[in-house]
Amino acid sequence: MAAYDYITHDYDAIVIGAGGSGLRATLGLAEQGLRTACVTKVFPTRSHTVAAQGGIAASLGNMGPDHWQWHMYDTVKGSDWLGDVDAMEYLAREAPKAVYELEHYGVPFSRTEAGKIYQRPFGGHTTEFGEGPPVQRTCAAADRTGHAILHTLYGQSLKEKAEFFIEFFAIDLLMGEDGQCQGVLAWCLEDGSMHVFNAKMTVLATGGYGRAYFSATSAHTCTGDGGGMVARAGLPLQDMEFVQFHPTGIYGAGCLITEGARGEGGYLTNSEGERFMERYAPTYKDLASRDVVSRCMTMEIREGRGVGKDKDHIHLHLNHLPAEALAERLPGISESAKIFSGVDVTKEPIPVLPTVHYNMGGIPTNYWGEVLSPTADDPDRIVPGLMAVGEAGCASVHGANRLGSNSLIDLVVFGRAAAIKAGEVVDRKAAPGKVNVSQVEKALDRFDTLRHAKGDTPTAELRAEMQKTMQDDAAVFRTDETLAQGVEKMYRVAGKMDGIQVSDRSMIWNTDLMETLELTNLMPNALATIVSAEARKESRGAHAHEDYPDRNDETWRKHTLARVNGKVELDYRPVHVNPLIGHNEGGIDLDKIKPKARVY
Ligand SMILES: Cc1cc2nc3c(=O)[nH]c(=O)nc-3n(C[C@H](O)[C@H](O)[C@H](O)COP(=O)(O)OP(=O)(O)OC[C@H]3O[C@@H](n4cnc5c(N)ncnc54)[C@H](O)[C@@H]3O)c2cc1C
Repeated sequence: MAAYDYITHDYDAIVIGAGGSGLRATLGLAEQGLRTACVTKVFPTRSHTVAAQGGIAASLGNMGPDHWQWHMYDTVKGSDWLGDVDAMEYLAREAPKAVYELEHYGVPFSRTEAGKIYQRPFGGHTTEFGEGPPVQRTCAAADRTGHAILHTLYGQSLKEKAEFFIEFFAIDLLMGEDGQCQGVLAWCLEDGSMHVFNAKMTVLATGGYGRAYFSATSAHTCTGDGGGMVARAGLPLQDMEFVQFHPTGIYGAGCLITEGARGEGGYLTNSEGERFMERYAPTYKDLASRDVVSRCMTMEIREGRGVGKDKDHIHLHLNHLPAEALAERLPGISESAKIFSGVDVTKEPIPVLPTVHYNMGGIPTNYWGEVLSPTADDPDRIVPGLMAVGEAGCASVHGANRLGSNSLIDLVVFGRAAAIKAGEVVDRKAAPGKVNVSQVEKALDRFDTLRHAKGDTPTAELRAEMQKTMQDDAAVFRTDETLAQGVEKMYRVAGKMDGIQVSDRSMIWNTDLMETLELTNLMPNALATIVSAEARKESRGAHAHEDYPDRNDETWRKHTLARVNGKVELDYRPVHVNPLIGHNEGGIDLDKIKPKARVY
């Protein structure tokens, strides 16, 4: 057994991750007087949420009529009828409250003339259950909304005396003998010490796994660590085949140009100068939902109408908009376009390409954030002591495709919900539980083996191989052939983990070892994604299968569950189709959200 000393900390609740969801959960827990620690591998305000530009959706109705039921309808339709109805209702109904809370905590939202929170249009957000014009529902702080939210929530959490363990890397979950979660083992990057966080409730808020792909808008730290830990604990991941490509990543660099750019009046053109979205989505045009726009762009390029010397990208125009409006509403992306493509947005179009942006799939939870480990008898069985929120989780509100600005609202609504639920189930008076020492030893052994790995494949090389495989074979369009080939390749790539080479053996700021640990997390996420995709013989949301171009509700309106243990084992669980409140009590008319063809 590996010999490492470790320090044990006892808490009522620990949160792993300090992005929008982790901080909202931390704040909510601390506000209720629970002894709370937040463990994070990067400084809180450097979490990927800081990069969120466009905004946060809530039916405040500040710019015209809106209703939470319209927001719910749009989310259901956006999800291509794979989201859980109870969770989507909870999201849309609680959204205004969660945004006003942010306002009161101090988020500096942009304002209307009348002093209300400014809201902009975003793709897939409409009025009158998809029958009316686009709605202005996305609340924004210029194009730095995530930045504003993160800084505010961090300040508030400190005020509530939440404790932060910053630049601590969580290695593995510690599971008790009865299958409950007891906390995590974490490594302090700064001084190399090891820490057992013993907690009555563990909340995973570790973000997405965009970095399983070669070209992604997400930060290099988005490595699906929560999903990796869950997979190693023998728990399933859900709906991993659904990976969102954002239509407008900057060509070459991959960094994001927010959908808010199209919300403010931007549009896409092909090599003929045609606004091609008018042809594919006559009603909502450039503001159709993301999966639709990304597919249309890919089709234009495939048919030879891409722009540039290699005809391999598309133009995004903002140059017809007033320069003052760009400076006021989109200052950040004007700067990004200049830095990463040398374009002055007031004069020329920006070169863009669909780029991996968001993971709809993740750790399955109910709408309180409680992690599920379904069995044949109980598809909603709860794992005691474990929650997941934010992009790491799958509640599921985004189903097969997420609408823009619905992630930031998901972070705060479910971060808050998880804190409320934890406040109910955690017994503050109870003495700390006894950690299962064999689990600590197992996690330390895994760490030690990687630390001394003497194989001949450097981490960066194997990571690149994985990223390239995913980019080629689990892309915007998929076929039986590319997927089958991708599954085989990914198994081969994952098999090479045994021959990994780590050259730095130190314990202090050993980034070689940290990236290797991250790779051990990316791998199960990538495997689950491609195997789940290969099995789903239909097209739905972001999963566009060329051999099965139609959605097939009869067979496939169900969540995929993937358990990764060397091989990936698949199972399925039913989609929740019942709302929380009935039509008579002010809830949605179920007729309105019946599955139908998804056109924009
Ligand atoms: C460029 C960009 C722009 C976006 N714009 C918008 C937008 O305008 N509107 C919208 O709704 N959505 C947007 N999104 C999506 C949205 O921002 C993300 O889905 C969301 O911010 C994820 O938040 P999170 O709290 O789940 O995790 P993150 O913000 O990714 O934070 C993850 C946290 O987990 C911690 N962590 C991870 N692994 C470990 C570990 N092993 N040990 C310890 N800590 C760990 C990290 O330190 C970090 O604090 C955007 C995404 C990107 C990439």
